[in-house]
Amino acid sequence: MVFETIPMTVMGPWHKFYKFSSLKKVMYLRYHLLSCIILAIVLFPFFNYYSLLVFILGFFIDFDHYLYDIITTRRLSLSVSYRMHMNKEREIKDQLHIFHTVEFIVAFLLLTIISNNIYLIIISTGLVLHLILDYIYEIYLIMIKKEKLKQTRASFFILWMLRH
Ligand SMILES: [Zn+2]
Repeated sequence: MVFETIPMTVMGPWHKFYKFSSLKKVMYLRYHLLSCIILAIVLFPFFNYYSLLVFILGFFIDFDHYLYDIITTRRLSLSVSYRMHMNKEREIKDQLHIFHTVEFIVAFLLLTIISNNIYLIIISTGLVLHLILDYIYEIYLIMIKKEKLKQTRASFFILWMLRH
């Protein structure tokens, strides 16, 4: 990582701890975590502890990154998988993140609408929140940070299947 070259002397003890701790590694997920906590708090007066269901697809949906890595690399290490995704220099195109495909999203939202099931509605709000954040982050990287994305994923499961 680029930051490793910064001399340690300019940093305080907390920064040293932060720099090498696993805390920093999971900081990327903080936006999803934080937004889910806020959403759960907002929904709490209406749905009580069922509001926690927002975490299923609002936060743990990214588990599909790990699933894809297990299948493609045959490695089970969650931290290796996470570091691979955080490494912006690593080029990997057309990944299949199954819960981020249009098919899964449309099917889940349709099921929610048709069934009108309250639990599914709460889970779906988490899903929509997650997708909005993912989308904003991508726009931020492309438009503001002017980065060329080296890691991409397939939008459609069916088209991915046809390509592989
Ligand atoms: Zn995501």
